[in-house]
Amino acid sequence: MRKIQTVLGPIAPEDLGMTLVHEHLAVGYPGWDCDPLSRPYEREKMVKLCLRALEPVKSYGVKSIIDATPLDLSRDVEVMKDVSSKMQIHIVCSTGRYTEEEGKWAYLKARSRSKIGDLYTELYEGFMKEITDGIGRSGIRPGVIKVATGHGSISPFEEAALRAAARAGRETGLPIITHTENGTMGPEQAALLVGEGVNPEKIMIGHMCGNPSIQYQMNVLNKGVNIAFDRFGIETFVPDRVRISMLVGLLGVGYTGRIMISHDFMCCVSGRGGRLPDEVTQKTARWSPTHIFQDIIPALKTAGVTDEQIQTMMVDNPRRLFSGE
Ligand SMILES: [Zn+2]
Repeated sequence: MRKIQTVLGPIAPEDLGMTLVHEHLAVGYPGWDCDPLSRPYEREKMVKLCLRALEPVKSYGVKSIIDATPLDLSRDVEVMKDVSSKMQIHIVCSTGRYTEEEGKWAYLKARSRSKIGDLYTELYEGFMKEITDGIGRSGIRPGVIKVATGHGSISPFEEAALRAAARAGRETGLPIITHTENGTMGPEQAALLVGEGVNPEKIMIGHMCGNPSIQYQMNVLNKGVNIAFDRFGIETFVPDRVRISMLVGLLGVGYTGRIMISHDFMCCVSGRGGRLPDEVTQKTARWSPTHIFQDIIPALKTAGVTDEQIQTMMVDNPRRLFSGE
């Protein structure tokens, strides 16, 4: 059976265990390094912050974390490697690209560049370079491909990234995980990737819990793909109670085998930092890498969800995302 690439090397799919399928160790939005007031970039401090946030998940039985940071959000595989070996937890990192609005596209948009190569091919070659040779000189290879689209539309750049990811995924067997902006464009992402010949079992459409329509969730699921309710604790747009209601409903009508859960937590964010408005702070007060275990699983159980269903979402489905079976 095909091995799963982690930042410390390949593992067998059955060794993945309980998995948080969408979290972030270190993130930096493009331009943070142009802010003269940004904090210095200190890996040792970042590792400490990651360990402080993530260590508690081990007591709940988490064995693996997928870091969904694409290559253009200041992904740092050295931090991941250090955290993985210190914590003795598997970390799977991503290649891939973020949205046109918030990702790092300026280089590919530059007129001189667009005269040299075509976008789709350059994106594809970039993903393949990381998958086959490793990221930079680290020797670390990504285990998933992450792609993203904006709110309510897929730009030509994002579409090229999705198609390039589909080709790289098809050729290498790596799963494709996505960012949707508040759950919009989920059916379109799924249709595009499946249309490009990607095995639907190896696709996880992300942030679907941002869309409060059950019918919409089913429109995505009915394309044969997996979906992720991966923003538990971020209640700025959708309260967890709505997420839980939708999840209980979908589990109740037979979709347990195709839903995964996570937090989209960010252990450290580069830049100058600062205080968020009180309203945001209040609506993310429970957001942490253990929130699912402390608050969400008990609520699901109260609603009649079984231990077996939780095991399916957190252990079996992540394993199947990689194995495609
Ligand atoms: Zn994310």
